[in-house]
Amino acid sequence: MAESTDVGETGDLVRYGRQGPVAVLTLNRPATANAQTGALLYALDAAFYRFAEEDDAAVAILTGEGRHFSAGHDIGPGGDRDKTFERVSMWWDHVGKPGAENRLAREEEVYLGLCRRWREIPKPTIAKVRGACIAGGLMLAWACDFIYASETAYFSDPTVAMGVPGHEFFAHPWILGGRQAKEFLFLGERIDARQARELGMVNRVFADAELDEETMRLARQIARMPRMGLALAKMAVNQAEDAMGLRTGMDSVFGLHQLGHAHNSEVSGSPTLHRTSEEIKAVVNGRDWRQPPSRDADV
Ligand code: ZN
Repeated sequence: MAESTDVGETGDLVRYGRQGPVAVLTLNRPATANAQTGALLYALDAAFYRFAEEDDAAVAILTGEGRHFSAGHDIGPGGDRDKTFERVSMWWDHVGKPGAENRLAREEEVYLGLCRRWREIPKPTIAKVRGACIAGGLMLAWACDFIYASETAYFSDPTVAMGVPGHEFFAHPWILGGRQAKEFLFLGERIDARQARELGMVNRVFADAELDEETMRLARQIARMPRMGLALAKMAVNQAEDAMGLRTGMDSVFGLHQLGHAHNSEVSGSPTLHRTSEEIKAVVNGRDWRQPPSRDADV
């Protein structure tokens, strides 16, 4: 495959390659299970912008380097929450702003804003998922039009353990239905690829050895359709989802999400209740996260 050109100065974080009419965007922080920093998300935005602009690029596949798609937002010491980036929305820079204003300005831009921007690319986008797809990882996969998964893939949103009602791109009830969305959120534990397919989150599940070839085959098949027809079909479904309340629901829940962060900061000093990565891993793996971690913790 013609894995090639870097995208901007943070290009190493997202690789952009082309195979005929198909663009492949690869998250490239495998040592951290592709945990998302601001730098990585802006690199992904640049890659998606390039895909949108290239006339002969018809379909994009978004995937992750290594065993995992993405373990979520980088909340560890490798994160870059206090760094200024060149923004793509009209929100002001969050750096140096106090209290809830800091989180609101940052999350409007970097989390909710970027995911909405990518959902509205008028060309088909496919998330190709193996391994972990957790919280912020779900946001990227859900911003794509649909998901092809390997049998190794698993999905979780453990953010209720952090005292917030799900990740920032709150599409849960529209993707899963209300009752399944509640169980998914209240437990926070992982579901596997076949469960995710039964719930309507994942379109197709392939053996791990077949995922790349099958995803490319289907992407090329889609690429044979007329560009305008695909754009109109995508807009039609997105508009229908918004007419069913997706966009306004996401806006109202974003307010609850910010309230959760603000409450947590008041009572604990941390917008995410000082949850450690070990505690979050325990939630994802269905263990009692209030106990000391065992040795079999996985992402
Ligand atoms: Zn948040």
